[in-house]
Amino acid sequence: MRPLFALISLAALATPAMAQTDALSDETAMQARTLMENALESDVAYDTIRDLTTRIGPRLAGSEAEARARDWAVDHLKSLGFKNVRVEPFDMPFWSRVSEHAEIVSPFPQPLAITALGNSVATPEGGVTGEIVRFETMNDLAAAPMDDSLKGKIVFVDEDMVRTQDGSSYGVAVAKRSGAANEAAKRGAVAAIIKSVGTDTFRRPHTGTMRYIDGGTKVPTAALAWPDAEQLTRALAYGPVTVRLDISVLTKDSVESGNVIAEIPGKTDELVVIGGHLDSWDLGTGAVDDGAGIGIVTGAGKVILDLKKKPERTIRIVYFGAEEVGLLGAFAYAKAHATELDKHVVGAESDFGAGRIYQLRSRFGESQLDKAAAMQRVLEPLGIALADNEGTGGPDMTPLRTAGVPVVSLSQNGWDYFDLHHTSDDTFDKIDPDDIAQNVAAYAAFAWMAANMEGSFRDAPAAD
Ligand code: ZN
Ligand code: ZN
Repeated sequence: MRPLFALISLAALATPAMAQTDALSDETAMQARTLMENALESDVAYDTIRDLTTRIGPRLAGSEAEARARDWAVDHLKSLGFKNVRVEPFDMPFWSRVSEHAEIVSPFPQPLAITALGNSVATPEGGVTGEIVRFETMNDLAAAPMDDSLKGKIVFVDEDMVRTQDGSSYGVAVAKRSGAANEAAKRGAVAAIIKSVGTDTFRRPHTGTMRYIDGGTKVPTAALAWPDAEQLTRALAYGPVTVRLDISVLTKDSVESGNVIAEIPGKTDELVVIGGHLDSWDLGTGAVDDGAGIGIVTGAGKVILDLKKKPERTIRIVYFGAEEVGLLGAFAYAKAHATELDKHVVGAESDFGAGRIYQLRSRFGESQLDKAAAMQRVLEPLGIALADNEGTGGPDMTPLRTAGVPVVSLSQNGWDYFDLHHTSDDTFDKIDPDDIAQNVAAYAAFAWMAANMEGSFRDAPAAD
């Protein structure tokens, strides 16, 4: 039972449905409200996250653990009663950290808390040692002269990440994570370290993927925990500082990953897709990123199954593989389903942690915005407002969205998300069952409405 939330919501849920659009019938709106009430009483999502993060734990993309997670997923989805449960495998290159260590060598010898960034090359045997050159921002590094001033040095980008509710600062932060090693190598540096992409001040670094530019020199790269970045900056105030970085990694050219798919069959072959990603980084147990998303869409699907009414459209749940290393599962999905992309009516992925949803952003045809408004009116008792028509649908919706599939972003409050994101502290104890239940309610109602609304979410093609 969730008394506080129930107090806020049930009175509002009890008001008669006011669909106010031809596309959303009163009957569908009422059913969506029933799903919301049932979702608030369901433990399936919370139990799903607990089971996944306890029995599998970390699920690095392409690893044996990610494969065990797929087996777990198939059993789990079948046991809940979903249909057409299957794995769609794909191949990918593999990267894993083996060991990582950094220390100030001089003038003040002491260890530094670091973690290698995903895809980083190893350091040479015995590590790499160099004098630190600090840049306040990534833009400062990118603007540094192309001379020999960084030759043999270790670049340190000391940029803080701004805390936001909607995660809008992540793009800038990723530019630092992905770009620091490339810009450093262009100028002859032997390694690059960054202040972690994160908003906490704890002594545990944040990993995340980086990408080397084609044809460029590859230098090792790692993230410092926030206090260690501060310490390094303090040390630099006394004069030159030399750091040793020692990273070893394991790579394989090709391993298997896969997407896990389950369905609630509808009366037609049109599809509504909801998903999350099954892989996680290796440092924590991937509870918030993205065990939460897996739990939310599974819990939503389960309350729809329990309604025992066949939706008009098929509702497809996708657990994407290998999201963290470049949306590999999402691209594999779009390729495998290239011939039925026009059957994908609308999609949404939950991949922004475990906080409450506070707004609905659509990306529909401009002529279909009444559908977004109708959905939001049903979701409003959950505290969800209507925002703009610039939704992304979540990372794994990117290939579908760029192919023209309409998407919805059910935006979660991400104020604290980057405190934990990609750290050893992303563990199940951070999951709040009431917040998860609110997400499940929103996804269940959204998926049901999307599956039963009449008409397309796209603009009609222009007449010749
Ligand atoms: Zn994620
Ligand atoms: Zn992530």
